[in-house]
Amino acid sequence: MNTRQNIVIVGGGTAGWMAANMLQQQLGSSGFNCILIESPDIPTIGVGEGSTPQLKSFFSALGITESQWMPQCHATYKNGISFKNWSVDKDHREYFHPFPSAVDQHTARGFLQHCIAKQQGRNVDTQTDRFFLAAQLAKQNRSPILKSGAVGISYGYHFDSVLLGKYLQKLTVKQGVQHIKSTVVGIKLHLNGDIKSLQLADGQVIEAELFVDCSGFKALLIQQTLGTEFISYRSQLFNDSAIALPSTQLTPLTSQTVATALNHGWAWEIPLSNRTGNGYVYSSDYCSAEQAETELRQKLNMINYPVAAKHLKMKVGRVALHWNNNCLAVGLSQGFIEPLEATALHLVQHTIESFISAFSAGNFSTQHQAQFNQRINARFDGIRDYIVCHYKVNQRHDSAYWRDNRANTNMSNSLQAILECWDKGGDLLAEINQQQIAGYYSAVSWYCLLAGYGRFVATQHKPTEALVNISEIERSLQQLSQQFLDQNQALDFLAATTEI
Ligand SMILES: Cc1cc2nc3c(=O)[nH]c(=O)nc-3n(C[C@H](O)[C@H](O)[C@H](O)COP(=O)(O)OP(=O)(O)OC[C@H]3O[C@@H](n4cnc5c(N)ncnc54)[C@H](O)[C@@H]3O)c2cc1C
Repeated sequence: MNTRQNIVIVGGGTAGWMAANMLQQQLGSSGFNCILIESPDIPTIGVGEGSTPQLKSFFSALGITESQWMPQCHATYKNGISFKNWSVDKDHREYFHPFPSAVDQHTARGFLQHCIAKQQGRNVDTQTDRFFLAAQLAKQNRSPILKSGAVGISYGYHFDSVLLGKYLQKLTVKQGVQHIKSTVVGIKLHLNGDIKSLQLADGQVIEAELFVDCSGFKALLIQQTLGTEFISYRSQLFNDSAIALPSTQLTPLTSQTVATALNHGWAWEIPLSNRTGNGYVYSSDYCSAEQAETELRQKLNMINYPVAAKHLKMKVGRVALHWNNNCLAVGLSQGFIEPLEATALHLVQHTIESFISAFSAGNFSTQHQAQFNQRINARFDGIRDYIVCHYKVNQRHDSAYWRDNRANTNMSNSLQAILECWDKGGDLLAEINQQQIAGYYSAVSWYCLLAGYGRFVATQHKPTEALVNISEIERSLQQLSQQFLDQNQALDFLAATTEI
């Protein structure tokens, strides 16, 4: 008798293939068969080119090396994100958000000391690029890989998301996941509300014990079928639209994402090894798609460039229950926070890892469903707050979009408490620890953001007197950075050692 149970994943975008891969690897030996159904007629979203450092552990857990996947996906190394023009103040036109690393421990302390002193009115330097190695590496177009070949610091990636999906598909099918290319056209439920089976366009009926909804923004199972409540973030995050417009490769190849504020949103610039990913994330309440495209083309100097732009709509928010009945939602179907900090695949990975752990701990039952949902909701909301803060503290006055964002009072109690603590010169580190939110964004990231935009309420009248020796820090960061490969060198090294 076949006692194996089916897990059916609906959707063959990045979320679907990541889910299939991890579920097969972790639950295959516990008696589960994974089947992935992908519509040949409904395209994947086809954007999403940046990651956080967590993606490295996804590949490591699957035993995939960088030389196996990066060259095939035109991937590059990412040291962090540079925010440009979010403030008009000449001292805060640009700041860098580094991925925190153990190597920064000492210099980060100095940075925090300076931030605290500046909150109290001292005119000291709080430019993140003077304190963090990742910022220095990005400035010099260096990778986070040491010349010895060892990994130096924590880092993320840039990649072609379509190719990454294809790469994961090949790998996953090789691992034994059954791949069905057909569209789900009907869904049957059990009396208790669980999903029983899927009717496919090719006539097949697929039954399963567990269904994973990776159908993208349409959320075919979790929302359309089970009616799970969707909690919109729109009152806090105004952006609901995006345009993607690739251009030729940057030379020299950089090692950071750039997020530049425009009139009604912000533009991304992502260096891939064969092209540059560009796009504009904006609010349709403030400008039309045509205006946004013209503004983006002007910024890129691509007014007459004969490449069509791709226009997208974004549904920003999350479901109330990511695991409801016998359905788990992963990817855009479970929710989306706009891509300012490139957190979507991080949430995908975290959702699947947490699910596997909760499902296994409950002996493959729904025993830990409530805690799981609470955990994922908290992470979504925690990340949202960090993104909302960028808009809340922006220092632009030139359009209604930026003024309205700054004046917006819709925000969580958590974010309100963070801003109040910062503005009165309180202990932000203690506030973040007390709120237990450091797992979403560390205190250092919050300091980088608030100092980066120059949100200092106290008048800076006290003497300019550095509390730490910045020149010494800069010198040592400079020296250290020489030990790292250029982005181009690091990628050449990978290409030369490519394993298929
Ligand atoms: C403008 C923008 C920028 C982004 N930037 C980033 C970024 O920098 N970093 C990041 O991590 N993320 C980013 N994202 C998010 C990222 O693109 C997605 O999280 C990721 O691609 C996963 O998408 P998905 O697999 O959930 O959905 P999709 O890619 O939309 O895939 C949906 C799948 O479901 C299938 N499907 C749908 N209906 C049916 C049906 N009836 N039957 C069978 N199959 C069906 C489709 O065929 C498709 O295979 C960005 C998103 C946007 C909109």
